[in-house]
Amino acid sequence: MLSSSQIWKEFFETYYRDELNRLADAIEFGGNKSLYVDYLRDLSIFMEGRLGEELLEKPDVVIAHANEGLALTENIYDVSLEGCYVRFYNLPTSKRILIRNLRSEHISKFVAVEGIVRKVTEVRPRVVKAAFSCTKCGKVVEVIQDDEATLKQPYECPACKNKRFIFLPDESLSIDSQRIRIQEYPENLRGGEQPQQIDVILEGDLTGKVNPGDRVIVNGIIRAKPRKLGSRQLQHMDIHIEGNSIEILQQEYEEFEITEEDKKRILKLAEDENLFEKIVASIAPSIYGHEDIKLAIALQLFGGVPKKLPDGIEIRGDIHVLLVGDPGVAKSQILKYVHRIAPRSVYTTGKGTTTAGLTATATRDEFDGRWTLEAGALVLADKGIALVDEIDKMRNEDRSALHEAMEQQTVSVAKAGINAVLRARCALLGAANPKYGRFDKYTPIAEQIDLSPTLLSRFDLIFVLTDDPDEVRDRKLAEHILRAHEIGEKLEKLRNITSVEYTREDLDRESEQAKIIPAIDPELLRKYIAYAKKTVFPVLSEEAKNRIIDFYISLRSRAKDNSAVPVTARQLEALIRLAEASARLRLSDVVSVEDVDRVIKIVKKSLEQIAVDPETGEIDIDYAFTGTSKSQRDRILILKRIIEELESNYSKGAPEEEILRAAQEEGIDEVKARDLLRKMREMGDIYSPREGYYKLAVK
Ligand code: ADP
Ligand code: MG
Repeated sequence: MLSSSQIWKEFFETYYRDELNRLADAIEFGGNKSLYVDYLRDLSIFMEGRLGEELLEKPDVVIAHANEGLALTENIYDVSLEGCYVRFYNLPTSKRILIRNLRSEHISKFVAVEGIVRKVTEVRPRVVKAAFSCTKCGKVVEVIQDDEATLKQPYECPACKNKRFIFLPDESLSIDSQRIRIQEYPENLRGGEQPQQIDVILEGDLTGKVNPGDRVIVNGIIRAKPRKLGSRQLQHMDIHIEGNSIEILQQEYEEFEITEEDKKRILKLAEDENLFEKIVASIAPSIYGHEDIKLAIALQLFGGVPKKLPDGIEIRGDIHVLLVGDPGVAKSQILKYVHRIAPRSVYTTGKGTTTAGLTATATRDEFDGRWTLEAGALVLADKGIALVDEIDKMRNEDRSALHEAMEQQTVSVAKAGINAVLRARCALLGAANPKYGRFDKYTPIAEQIDLSPTLLSRFDLIFVLTDDPDEVRDRKLAEHILRAHEIGEKLEKLRNITSVEYTREDLDRESEQAKIIPAIDPELLRKYIAYAKKTVFPVLSEEAKNRIIDFYISLRSRAKDNSAVPVTARQLEALIRLAEASARLRLSDVVSVEDVDRVIKIVKKSLEQIAVDPETGEIDIDYAFTGTSKSQRDRILILKRIIEELESNYSKGAPEEEILRAAQEEGIDEVKARDLLRKMREMGDIYSPREGYYKLAVK
């Protein structure tokens, strides 16, 4: 074996002179006691990389040598480096191992594992050397502890053979300790695979550094421990990593290497005069129709420009889209398709698949009772897209957290000892079913799905998918689905039986004709999106700004007085984001009028579906989100005034008969008036002291 404390001393004194001095200086001021060694830069070169290879193969011995060697080095401050740790980082990518590929051959080896932090426990001291005193003779006995949850006691007193002891915390040696759980990147999973996870134990100055949602490389030793069934040990082992160092990936992870060749293809595609149609035809092509939704999803994939305003206010660039609709209209299928093509996407259902649900949660750890902070889907989708099916079924804890997550793009957890703000910079694509089975055009959307008006207003676009019979469309849809199934059947046949009358190429051609394969190869589309997000930062042109203002004002002006505000600044920001996404999709540095027009068209479509007051035929956002239109609000005011006037004449409250008569005189017919009275009662504006009489709740 090459490694020895002498070799390491030599290595440090040759390559790490400055670092040794800096470490010595830091220690004097109570700083960290770690020396970081760059594997790729230094160890892979030193002695032709042989010392580095030994580290990977026999980390326990080699790290002990390195620590001893470090203690032997000298520095200008003449401070002893005894008790300092050597930590290794920046292993070559070829040495990185996927969590799912960890095997028995890796046990006790030094590895680098990359993943996203899913859980972290609190940082707590752990006893590494416990001192006990014998209850009989008082002798102090020390016991070295391993990283089990339970405290190891001495077997017996070496002096008097007594077997009872008292633990002495003050004379024991502790170290800060934390357990984290990392899991594979969502984007590395192929459709439907469950992410694999592994626990990492971090100690000393490695603790308290990472948060759930962080992307990290953990360098350390794989340890295995027999599973336990009660007090019995089993043959099967659980593995974890004993962390030696942890690297937090600050930079946006380079999911894709974009070669010069790719770049040429990307720029060529951007020139295509049917670019938008092509991209739309590349999203869930087996799903017939829904072009508006597909365009909205395309814009969502590119996203607007996240920005910090000069006064420090941060505005999200991520676009949130909600699909509401009848059962069986392909909402779930669309979400699943987007999950397949979108980089960094996380798919979940409102009910959630883990305890953390959609956002994040603090729970007691099952292993050692420590408080644990666990990331949910939106935190794991940081810098990506979260696909939440049946979002209306989400848990109550998630409802309040979602407000913050969608607008501020953070998730705050304050519970027990844990106080954390996690990042959730993701776009949300949600799907919801109507409460009463089917969507009813004549009832406001807010009354039909289990999402609060405030949450609904955080979506940039909401689409309603209804399933109304329409012979022409139904026939086309049926033909499309049948064609897709037919080709699917033929593909299966080809896969299972060798002698068939057609080839794979024939089927590809058929699929292309039937438009059930994406117009753009998904791999190229992914690269195209990554390239656009990384390199294109469009700025609003003067004309584009004016067009947005005009449209906004035209929507606003439909309100006749200030009490009703049909469109809010939220919608204005949505317009800007969508227009930026449209420019990005074209790889353009400028948001043009065409971008704005494209976006106005789609925003109008969305508003027409959800925000047209059936009484007036006008767009009214309040109608969509609160279920009360301006015309309704006007009538409610009239009814309130009537009740108030009548109340002064009748001590029992305003009689219903009288209210209806007065309302009639003001042009509100009886059916409407009764309906409004019911609504006002539900909203707590009025109450009935007795059947048939009304009083104002607040005057
Ligand atoms: P939802 O989630 O809206 O209830 P699903 O996504 O589960 O509906 O869709 C039900 C089935 O109907 C799926 O197999 C889907 O492929 C099919 N389907 C529905 N609408 C279409 C469409 N427009 N084009 C192709 N297939 C469709
Ligand atoms: Mg569904």
